[in-house]
Amino acid sequence: VSAPVVTTRAALDEWLADRRAGGASVGLVPTMGALHAGHLSLIRRAKADNDAVVTSVYVNPLQFGAGEDLSAYPRDLDRDRGLAGEAGTDVVFAPSVDEMWPEPSQTTVHVEGVSAPLEGRSRPGHFDGVATIVAKLFGLVGLCTAYFGEKDFQQLAVIKRFVQDLSLPVHVVGCPVVRDPDGLALSSRNAYLTDEERELAPRLYWALLAGRRVIEDERRTDPDAVVEAMTASLAEVPRFTLDYAAVVDPHDLVPPDTLTGDVRLLVAARLGRARLIDNIPATVPVPVAS
Ligand code: AMP
Repeated sequence: VSAPVVTTRAALDEWLADRRAGGASVGLVPTMGALHAGHLSLIRRAKADNDAVVTSVYVNPLQFGAGEDLSAYPRDLDRDRGLAGEAGTDVVFAPSVDEMWPEPSQTTVHVEGVSAPLEGRSRPGHFDGVATIVAKLFGLVGLCTAYFGEKDFQQLAVIKRFVQDLSLPVHVVGCPVVRDPDGLALSSRNAYLTDEERELAPRLYWALLAGRRVIEDERRTDPDAVVEAMTASLAEVPRFTLDYAAVVDPHDLVPPDTLTGDVRLLVAARLGRARLIDNIPATVPVPVAS
């Protein structure tokens, strides 16, 4: 069953008012479309937790930098509403850019700190674009639980931060990364890979696993050793151009001097036309008393 589509704020308001009049709780899954099993896992989780699920499909120009893939970004609303409906979406909100911003926005939601390193350094302005559009979606939908993938781990941290700082009435839930059987994290941008690049792409995940082995098997607590292992692993595939490899505190995304407790390993690299990102958790083993 294809989900019905609303394209205006007014129609979304009416739909939400109807549901809320019946006492429904609302789940929100923001996406840029080109839905895959990663998105669908968020929708299924939203449906399990809530009575009514809104999936938004909006390719947000604000979060694309100059020279990024805004015009090439895959778009297919008919396919998306079919997949979204089957996964449990009750309505797809697919506004045009003009509907979202009848006038250019004079407001930007900028999160300091957590948006600065990693993706923030590589993609200036990206998280301002994300935070501004997500805050606006939260304004349009109101009280809800919103679901985001850990695939975009820093994005999730940025969103949690402004929701906390601004006391927005939204509960933010992070969901695990969905991967193909060979380990490649699902991404709409995987469509840019040639067959040959697609074969090599899981090596990005291998680099993360190499980093995790240094922490969990070799029991090293020196972050440089972890970064070196990830870098060396990816360097085995010359077609990759590494952007960053990092091991950070999962809450503030700051690299610790010494690793303790739960940490997050993140990598970003170019492969052909695609820029791929991925991340995994790791836990520093507690020394056992002998
Ligand atoms: P996007 O359409 O790329 O903006 O992604 C929409 C949402 O789906 C974001 O919260 C992403 O983190 C999430 N997402 C994308 N890929 C995956 C994946 N492989 N596993 C889990 N969530 C994902």
